[in-house]
Amino acid sequence: MKIFVSGKLFEFEEATVKWRPEHLLAKLCKKQLEQKQDVSADPNAVDITLPNRPSNDLGLIRSPDAEIEASTADTRSEHITVHGRSTDAFKAIMAYYQTGRLHIPLCMCTGAFKDEMDFWGISTSELTKCCLYK
Ligand SMILES: [Zn+2]
Repeated sequence: MKIFVSGKLFEFEEATVKWRPEHLLAKLCKKQLEQKQDVSADPNAVDITLPNRPSNDLGLIRSPDAEIEASTADTRSEHITVHGRSTDAFKAIMAYYQTGRLHIPLCMCTGAFKDEMDFWGISTSELTKCCLYK
């Protein structure tokens, strides 16, 4: 998977985030993979069945989920794009998915990091003990 957070590229395996399916990142990955399948299936479908297809083709690619729709800039592209979020916080969150331990980055205000956690759908109770009561 590729994700641009405020212009910075992060790459990871989908399996890395799949263990927390309720988090925004896992949902975005799932959406992205579904859309890839839609897009790759499209050329054949267009060639063979274009005259008979219903007029809502473009609608199929659009997400019905407003939150996720707002977070992906280009639903046809190969990567997820998220604007206006902290890359430092995202780094810590990626480390969490890889290690199972979530720490607040030293360079960040605790409140600002908790806002980022909120955005990514991560509960503050998931913080590691050393950072839980900061
Ligand atoms: Zn810590």
